[in-house]
Amino acid sequence: MAQKFRVVIVGGGVAGLALATRLGDSIGKSGRAEITLVDKSFAHVWKPMLHCFAAGTAANENDRISFLSQASRHHFEFWPGEIAGMDRKAKTITLAPVVEPTGEVILDERKLEYDALVLSIGSRANDFGTPGVAEHCLFIDNLVDANGFNDRFRAELLKAFGNNEQLDIAIVGGGATGTQLAAELHKALDLASLYSFGKKPPKLNITLLEAGPRILPAFPEAVSAAAQKELEKIGVSVKTSAMVSGADGKGFMLKDGTRIPATLRVWAAGVKAPDVTRKFGDLKLSRSGQLEVRPTLQLVEDDSIFAMGDCAFIADKPVAPTAQAARQQAHHLARCMPAWINGRPLKPFAFHNKGAVVALGDYNGWGTFPGGKVFGGGWLRGISARMVHLMLYRQHQFELYGTFRGLMSCLVDWLDVFVRPSVRLD
Ligand SMILES: Cc1cc2nc3c(=O)[nH]c(=O)nc-3n(C[C@H](O)[C@H](O)[C@H](O)COP(=O)(O)OP(=O)(O)OC[C@H]3O[C@@H](n4cnc5c(N)ncnc54)[C@H](O)[C@@H]3O)c2cc1C
Repeated sequence: MAQKFRVVIVGGGVAGLALATRLGDSIGKSGRAEITLVDKSFAHVWKPMLHCFAAGTAANENDRISFLSQASRHHFEFWPGEIAGMDRKAKTITLAPVVEPTGEVILDERKLEYDALVLSIGSRANDFGTPGVAEHCLFIDNLVDANGFNDRFRAELLKAFGNNEQLDIAIVGGGATGTQLAAELHKALDLASLYSFGKKPPKLNITLLEAGPRILPAFPEAVSAAAQKELEKIGVSVKTSAMVSGADGKGFMLKDGTRIPATLRVWAAGVKAPDVTRKFGDLKLSRSGQLEVRPTLQLVEDDSIFAMGDCAFIADKPVAPTAQAARQQAHHLARCMPAWINGRPLKPFAFHNKGAVVALGDYNGWGTFPGGKVFGGGWLRGISARMVHLMLYRQHQFELYGTFRGLMSCLVDWLDVFVRPSVRLD
């Protein structure tokens, strides 16, 4: 029997899992191709929710999607593993061994053959080599980081409750991640205070540091100003034009010599591709290590390799690394690849900006949509913006689960409110 066309997708995030699911349901199901998804973890999470997992205001066991389960329902295969290199001539990728925290090797290094390779390995925060950041700061780039942050946050909160002390947290990066995290941590304290050992809740002193002149630079100025006002109202100290020059075990140093003391230090600024892109041989990369692609999302050097989402850089028409762009690129490839496999040319990707939404916990939110009329800062605000923010997650969940399981998942989340505390306490 002739060998089926092999599509290997590396990275099951916003873009990769959507593509694997759609291709699985089309050419995987019909038997025209063999679709394999590879990811370094075993479950998918909606990355724009990581700050909620970090604060403990969302229960990630409800929001994880098992790759193995998704694969078995949508006609693709899943292999756990971290891409460690590739041989473009032999059309193989190398997966690093899967190792237990105890050091036990569960799976040895493996090679996977492909006819078409899609790289969707996302991005991480960029510390730009700032001294002390790698050693002394926490990141929230993935679920492991977010859970690790939450463990530290709960421990420090308990200490502050027990000793009636103030807890100092400093967050670097006034983009959506840092801004939303600051608000979510406040919400976590508000909720945790309902279970306060009969003690007065401690003071949470959060400082948000942004190198640029305003927070949320991707939004209109009025939204930045309104969000800063809202954060200050709940007690977050926002410092703009604050360039961090270093970090140590006690806080951050700013370029102007100011020290910002902090027990917990979070780096949520900048975006760069995972370092592994530099091990892929002689490929053209952007300054932040993203793989340079043509408008068809094929690498500039190789017709058989595609990159999409945060790890891709479309030199002709760059798009910001957002979940919206990642999803649209996945949908584009899901539409075009089946015909391309049959020898037809690929269509160029075109980004359609549908706007942006940001939510500050339960406190406030803003949404901007292109083509609308400017209302002092956005087209939507308050509860409607927060609902749209939530809807984006539900839309993603329905797309991956289908209508029935999507509805069941909403029901489970709703019922969960009657069973568990609304903030993680253990
Ligand atoms: C806290 C936070 C809030 C955000 N909020 C928003 C928002 O409100 N709106 C918005 O549009 N965007 C938001 N973003 C950005 C958005 O999450 C990303 O743009 C989007 O997730 C990119 O999708 P992706 O598929 O490229 O990568 P990801 O979703 O990050 O997926 C990458 C996948 O690759 C896997 N992987 C990584 N390295 C390897 C490797 N070497 N081998 C194998 N697998 C690997 C990872 O495990 C992961 O599953 C937010 C990001 C964060 C961190």
